[in-house]
Amino acid sequence: MSNSNASNAFKRSHDLPSYLNPEHLGPWGIYLQQVERVTPYLGSLSRWVETLKRPKRALIVDVPIELDNGTMAHFEGYRVQHNTSRGPGKGGVRFHQDVTLSEVMALSAWMSVKNAAVNLPFGGAKGGIRVDPKTLSRGELERLTRRYTSEIGILIGPTKDIPAPDVNTNEQIMAWMMDTYSMNEGATASGVVTGKPIALGGSLGRREATGRGVYTVGQEAAQHIGLDITQAKIAVQGFGNVGGIAAKLFAQAGATVVAVQDHGGTVYKASGLDVPALLQHVSQHGSVKGFAPAETLPDGQFWAVDCDILIPAALEQQITASNADQIKARMVIEGANGPTTPEADDILHERGILVVPDVIANAGGVTVSYFEWVQDFSSFFWSEDEINARLVRIMREAFAAIWQVSDEHRVSLRTATFIVACTRILQARELRGLYP
Ligand code: GLU
Repeated sequence: MSNSNASNAFKRSHDLPSYLNPEHLGPWGIYLQQVERVTPYLGSLSRWVETLKRPKRALIVDVPIELDNGTMAHFEGYRVQHNTSRGPGKGGVRFHQDVTLSEVMALSAWMSVKNAAVNLPFGGAKGGIRVDPKTLSRGELERLTRRYTSEIGILIGPTKDIPAPDVNTNEQIMAWMMDTYSMNEGATASGVVTGKPIALGGSLGRREATGRGVYTVGQEAAQHIGLDITQAKIAVQGFGNVGGIAAKLFAQAGATVVAVQDHGGTVYKASGLDVPALLQHVSQHGSVKGFAPAETLPDGQFWAVDCDILIPAALEQQITASNADQIKARMVIEGANGPTTPEADDILHERGILVVPDVIANAGGVTVSYFEWVQDFSSFFWSEDEINARLVRIMREAFAAIWQVSDEHRVSLRTATFIVACTRILQARELRGLYP
C-alpha cells in the first residue's frame, strides 16, 4: 500500500505549488508521504486532508545583528504555523546552520500531529534560524535571539503561538525571547514561550520531559513485544537533552547502554557505558569524543551495533534505505523528529523491527510545555512529582490508544498515530468550518 500511496502523492504533485512538492525530497516530502499513507483511514474527513498538506502561515524574516567585531551579519529566520484548528500554534525554535523553510514546515506539521496524538489543546508550529550558534559569542547570540523574536512578534503570543526549545536552543534563549516579547508588549507575558528557567515561570520537570517520555513509551512498547528492559542493550544517537536523559533513565532501570554517537564521534562498550560519567564528560568537553573508558567506533558502524533498542535522538533522515538493513535492534524509539525516511520505515517494518514514531515517542517535551503554559496562566505551580505523574499517565494512555488502532487496522505505529491525530485535527477543522 505504501508504494502505491507514495506514487499517488507524486501523481498529484502537479496540483501543488512547487515549494510543497514531495518530489523535492527532504523532511517536507517525507511528511507528505506520511499523510498519503493515512488518507485511506480518514473516512469522510479525507475531504479536508488538503488542509494538512499546506502550512497555514509561513513567515521568513531577515535577522540582522552587529557582531562583536563591529561588522553586520544577516541570518535567515522562519516561523511556520502549520495548523491551528485545535488551538494556538505550539512548537520549538531551532538554531542550526542547515535549517531551511522546508524543514521548518515539516517540523511544524509533525508538531500538529504530535500535539493531537497526545490530545493537547494546541495546533502545530515551529521556528528556526539558519545559523551555527557555536560560532557566536553570548552577546551575539542574545542579539540574534532578541531580533528574531521581535521579527516573529507579529505571529507569536500566549494565545496565538508559543515557541519552546529545540535543537541548540535552551532555557536562556527562552528567557531572552520572553523578555523581548514582554518589552514590546509592555507587560510581562510569561506564557509566550515554554521551556523557560524556573525563576521566570518555567516548569519543574520540563528539562527532562522529552527524555522521560521516550523512556516511558519505550517501557510500554517493550512490554508489548516481550522485551525485558533490565536485560536490554541500548544504542543512542544524540546525547543532549533527549538522548542523554533517555539513556540515563534506561540505565537507571537496569538496561545496558552499549553505544552512543553524537556530532563528535561514536563510543562503544559491550559491557555497558557508565552513563553518568559520560554525561559528565559531555558537559566538560562538548561531545562524547575522547571518553576513555570506552572504545571509539567509526561513525558508520553505529547502526550495526548489537543492541535491542535503538534511539535516534539527533536530527532528521538518519535511518535511511542505506543503513536500515544493518540495524540489529528489535525496536527503534524516535527521540528526534523525523529520523527515519519512509523507505527505511518500510524496510524496518518488513524486518519485523518495531518503530515507535517521533510523533508519540518524543511528545513528552511538549506535554510538559503544556503544563508550563497552564501553570503560567493560573500563576499556580505544581510539584515535580505531580508533573511527572501526569506526564507518565498521558504518555501511557496515548500509547495504549495508538497501539490499539495499529492492531485494529494492521498498520505501523506511525500510521496509527497519524490516524488518531489527523482524525482529531480534521474533526476540529470540519466543526469550525470554512471562513468566510
Ligand atoms: N521542540 C520540542 C518538540 O519537538 C518541544 C516543543 C514544545 O515544547 O513546544 O517536540
